[in-house]
Amino acid sequence: MTDGDVIAKEGTQIFDVQKVRQDFPLLSRQVYNKNLIYLDNAATSQKPQQVIDTIIDYYTLRNSNIHRGVHALAAEATEAYENSREKVREFINAKHSHEIIFTRGTTESINLVAYSWGRKNIKEGDEIIISEMEHHSNIVPWQMLCEDKKAKLKFIPFTDDGELILEELDNLITSKTKLISVVHVSNTLGTINPVKEIIARAHAAGVPVLVDGAQAAPHFAIDVQDLDCDFYTISGHKMFGPTGSGILYGKENFLNDMPPFQGGGEMIKSVTMEGSTYNELPFKFEAGTPNIEGGIGIGTAIDYLKEIGRDDLIKYEHELLNYATAQLKEIKDLRIIGEAKNKVPVISFLVGKIHPYDLGTLLDKMGIAIRTGHHCTQPIMDRFKIPGTCRASFAFYNTKEEVDILVEAIEKAKKMLS
Ligand code: PMP
Repeated sequence: MTDGDVIAKEGTQIFDVQKVRQDFPLLSRQVYNKNLIYLDNAATSQKPQQVIDTIIDYYTLRNSNIHRGVHALAAEATEAYENSREKVREFINAKHSHEIIFTRGTTESINLVAYSWGRKNIKEGDEIIISEMEHHSNIVPWQMLCEDKKAKLKFIPFTDDGELILEELDNLITSKTKLISVVHVSNTLGTINPVKEIIARAHAAGVPVLVDGAQAAPHFAIDVQDLDCDFYTISGHKMFGPTGSGILYGKENFLNDMPPFQGGGEMIKSVTMEGSTYNELPFKFEAGTPNIEGGIGIGTAIDYLKEIGRDDLIKYEHELLNYATAQLKEIKDLRIIGEAKNKVPVISFLVGKIHPYDLGTLLDKMGIAIRTGHHCTQPIMDRFKIPGTCRASFAFYNTKEEVDILVEAIEKAKKMLS
């Protein structure tokens, strides 16, 4: 253990990374007879035993469909699912739990808004603003909508450091602007965007804002009332919860005004041969049997994050980011893509003329899992005129020791590839 791995808080409480690591069984496995170093957390995080136990517990003791049954199992499963919705409400400080819609993840959450809100509110000639650093899931649904409605998609540019150019936003907003949809934290650059300011500027012009929070929720506290965003999206699997679980937050008045996304069971009040009436929030947007264990598992992930103390891990991750950035910069010819002042511990980089795929493959053989490619952000790659990057993305369970091993491994791979 190195010095920075334990951070004292007010002299008493400490964030002990070695202790926290023991909660994540996968972190102690080996690959190719090497201790695994998992640095692909922006793609998906590992799960603590508590979340794994919740899923086992659900299938061992409580498996039943929710909301409809009169029997004990159905009541228990429903209670667990709805308790989890309340935990999410508290986690992001939404006003009402019916403003929390369970989805498959950020992709589905954004598609829901693009389909339901978008098809009702966007007309020919309207404009939607996103940024040049969006994940494809916050680009393609809007492109599809714009194509369908003959509307226009506009982009907020960013600087070489990876910071949005907010002055441009004021020029981009016109009387035709109907929505701004922007990423809170870039999965490629690590930039934390000033979404509160973007929302204030948008609202001053009467424009609602969706925030893609897929990469924010794993790293710091979200307060949707303080941000005053109109929609916010979360991916459960990136914040230590199960895959196939996600959240769409929407302000009550927006959600009430939107038509359903999918039709089927659960989302109706009544169905006759002539037509149907729709259920109230949040069920209007939750057609069919949902990912029940995923929804419950998000609640356990939230409990877990509360238990280990978010303030401590934010400080710890910040220190890890500074350390990793400094160490990586010691490598000759290593170039970091994304050097915003405000970042989470996500570091994209290129080493000389080495193709990211070649470096990633060699690191894998040394037990280090990083990601290579365009990270579903091709416009960022076009902006920098590069084919892709290597990306090391950290969570609070990563250590400075792992950074040292990564740096050593890159040096070794460099020699092998030159
Ligand atoms: N937005 C961002 C910023 C992301 O990083 C991701 C996942 N890489 C998504 C959206 C899509 O999330 P999901 O795959 O969980 O739907």
